[in-house]
Amino acid sequence: MPAREALAQKPMPMDASNSSARRLHAVPEPEEEAHADAPAPIALPPTREGQRVQLQDRLDAHLRKGRARVVLTDNVHTMLTVKRGQGLWTFRMHHLFVGAPSPIVRALARYAEDKDREASELLRQFIDANERKIRSQRKIRGVAIDVEGKFHNLQSIFDDLNTRYFDDSIRARITWGPRGKRKRRRSSIRLGSYTVEDELIRIHPVLDAVDVPEWFVAWIVYHEMLHEVHDMPVVDGRRIYHTREFREAEARFERYAECVMWERANLERLLTR
Ligand SMILES: [Zn+2]
Repeated sequence: MPAREALAQKPMPMDASNSSARRLHAVPEPEEEAHADAPAPIALPPTREGQRVQLQDRLDAHLRKGRARVVLTDNVHTMLTVKRGQGLWTFRMHHLFVGAPSPIVRALARYAEDKDREASELLRQFIDANERKIRSQRKIRGVAIDVEGKFHNLQSIFDDLNTRYFDDSIRARITWGPRGKRKRRRSSIRLGSYTVEDELIRIHPVLDAVDVPEWFVAWIVYHEMLHEVHDMPVVDGRRIYHTREFREAEARFERYAECVMWERANLERLLTR
């Protein structure tokens, strides 16, 4: 999997330039300001959506009886399924197929259209070889994952959103941030963040409270999940984390207006926790 290995080997800057943060400020300030001192733009690895489209295009080149639709999953139990419908071949496949060599992409097409046994055998070998790599990589990148919470389980919130809004395609992991003791009154708080190189969403533990509605936690999680899907283009030397497309997708959240209002009404309370 060239793409994934390149990601692991290439050192990425560890500051705000490759993590995007959702902040609440007591005094509003334009969010790009926070990134103004970021180093010169560095090409980010392609987003999940970019990888998906690329794979889809590569498959299209080999299909004769229909077009490809690719859904990337993180499901290690079903690495690959192909379904035909409405002139589309829907490939649901594990992200290990991202950046697969050409013979594998051709085999995928032959497997779908011709039920080719040789192709199927080649794919099985490819999956076996890469599955082991994925499992060991996941362990090396060990971050203590804490999803349980006292009041909100982040994994179940994440899984529900993933199904409802993302066709189960988001592969980031999620955790509560460290539960340290607060020293003084905050002037701003980062309720959630998404780090590209770790593919990790962190949610601030102040939200793990009985008086924070589950749908508000879901809203923060949803925002961070969108970062996996949306590009972060550099415009005039600055990385744009929240593009117009991002904001439009954000507004499609079921309780969007309610969440924005709740945030406004409760900001002060969260800052003093
Ligand atoms: Zn954001």
